[in-house]
Formats: sequence, C-alpha cells, structure tokens
Amino acid sequence: MPPTPSTTLRILLIEDQRDIAANIWDFLESRGHEMDHCPDGVSGLERALHGNFDVVVLDLGLPRMDGLELCHHLREAGRGVPVLMLTARDTLEDKLRGFAEGADDYLVKPFAMRELEARLRAICRRHNPMEAAPAFAGLAFDPRTMTAWRGGRRIPLPRLQGVLLGVLLREAPRIVSHATLIGAAWGEDGADTAALQTQIYELRNAVDKPFDTPLLHSVRGVGYRLVEP
Ligand code: CA
Repeated sequence: MPPTPSTTLRILLIEDQRDIAANIWDFLESRGHEMDHCPDGVSGLERALHGNFDVVVLDLGLPRMDGLELCHHLREAGRGVPVLMLTARDTLEDKLRGFAEGADDYLVKPFAMRELEARLRAICRRHNPMEAAPAFAGLAFDPRTMTAWRGGRRIPLPRLQGVLLGVLLREAPRIVSHATLIGAAWGEDGADTAALQTQIYELRNAVDKPFDTPLLHSVRGVGYRLVEP
C-alpha cells in the first residue's frame, strides 16, 4: 500500500554502522518517511536538538558520545521528541538504563524492518498531542505537558481542567455528557455536577476569556461541547 503524506514521519537516524544505517534508511524512505542521518553521537545530539523530528532512532553504541548520554542530554535540554533505542544486546540492564535516560522504546539487533516501523508509529501515536487530542478551531492541548495552545498563546492547565479539555477536544464538536466528563476527570465514584461546573468555569477563564470568541459551550442539562465560531 503506498504511503500517504499524513503517515509520513520525520525520522532522525543516529547509527554509526554504515550497512545498518543504509538498510534502515532505505526501508523507511521507501515507506514514504523523511530521513536524516548522523553517524556519531555528537553530531546526532546537535541535529536532534535543533532539527524538527517526529522520532529519533538512536543506536546505543556510538562514537564520540554513546546513545545513553545523548538521550540524557536531549531530555536535560527539555526536548521531548520520542526516542527508540537500538542495541546489540538484550540485557535488562541496558534496557533499564535506556528508559532511565528517557528512551521511549527499545529494539534489539537484528530486528525486522517492519517491526521497527510499527514501533516508530506506535511511539509517535503515544507522543503526538495532535493525535492524542486533536486541535479544534485553533485550540490544542498537549497532555504530556498539560498545556493548551490557542492563538499562539501557551496556556498551562491544572490536571483536572487538562483532562476535561482533552476529552472535549477528542469529541469535538460533539456534546460530551456531564457523566462522561466526571468519569474522565474524577473516576467512577467521582464528583458531582457542581464540581464539574467549577472546573469548567476555570477552564473557560483559561481558554476562552482572553479571546474574542468562546469555544466552550454548555448544553443545559446534558453536558458541554466545543463549537467552531
Ligand atoms: Ca553502533
């Protein structure tokens, strides 16, 4: 099946072994992804810090700076780009160290190219806020940082309001019932509609009040919805 533009990933490959790098590049490029490659840790970190990638494929054993250190610096710099780590050995210790430094997934060489691609897609789905909670009418929410975005403005949200906005965005423009919102934010035997109203009031203050047009609307006796102005 030919790849479509919407499934294209921008992938940074940091791998020093030429044959492996060439195999990965050729396969992923043939699947329609945009590839970039660095053969060592120092240039890889530089590229990962300043480039715009959906995901990084990172070899553990690299010249100049190994994969663990690279990953550590990347996270220290506040970069949340997902990282899939490649390693020659399947040891628990490597795996734990990789995750401790901020890797998101782990693949042991040799691996099937199709599996690599499937894993990359999976971690991008998990990471991509636009897929996790799609933007609607210029309003977006990133659940990883509990941050909403509207009109170029960054709006940090408390947890409950973030959860509520995430649900509303995923369902938009459909109505989300009071019960669904309460269940999502507080769990099964959670709060009442008064508590929900309070949180929605605060959410409106954050994402609607500073702007000309309100997006979040009440549907009396039923629930709430986001409406395109
Ligand atoms: Ca290597």
